[in-house]
Amino acid sequence: MPNDQAEAIVLRTAPLGDQDKLAVLFCRDKGLLRGVAKGARKFGNRFGSSLEPMSVVRAFYHEKERRELVVISGCDLLESFFEIQAEPATAFLLTYFAELIEEFAPARAREEVLFRLLLSVLRCLKDGGDREFAAAYFEAWFLHANGLLPDLSACRKCGRPLAPGWLAPGKDGAFCPDCAPLRKEEVPAGTAAFLRWTRRNPPPGDSAPPFPAEDVARIRRTLQAAIVHHMEREPRTLQFLKAK
Ligand SMILES: [Zn+2]
Repeated sequence: MPNDQAEAIVLRTAPLGDQDKLAVLFCRDKGLLRGVAKGARKFGNRFGSSLEPMSVVRAFYHEKERRELVVISGCDLLESFFEIQAEPATAFLLTYFAELIEEFAPARAREEVLFRLLLSVLRCLKDGGDREFAAAYFEAWFLHANGLLPDLSACRKCGRPLAPGWLAPGKDGAFCPDCAPLRKEEVPAGTAAFLRWTRRNPPPGDSAPPFPAEDVARIRRTLQAAIVHHMEREPRTLQFLKAK
């Protein structure tokens, strides 16, 4: 049984039998990895707090032939984001990030852009960064990294430049007033500037967000509509976030 290791962020765990846990890891070099952490439910087990959600770990594991789940033998904790999850709204937001990554990231494929995105947003939140802005930043980059961001520069149908254009529920891309269907929503002002900014800057830690909160809230609704469209359902965790 060859032993392997990976730098990973713990997305979630779930009880597995009386003694073990299922752990979903998001690895810098290997994408999603699902494994069994043997004995992780026992008192005083060797995993300690390394399997808390969003912990950055070095995981040691081996593959079982013809099994989807690897066997995780140990985890060294490299960086912890436990304390920021004492705030329920932040804890929910991180569960939402985890759900999106687990839904979209391929298993066993290098996903370093998404890995670095998640890590930078976690560090921004730990540094006291604005939660709504960090969420919008994650959503924008998440869509961009997955090639799902609608093109807001030109009408999808006739190619005319847009300022800023219209989105239609259930349709990809943005449209000019002539081509947009009856059911449509205007792209919020500032969306293009926001997307350009996120492309060029890291998430802003404890400094004031560079865009007004009302604009960020409107832009988030647009980004979430694109996520829901491509996921073909509303993320479970997003329903909780909206209900708060
Ligand atoms: Zn058009």
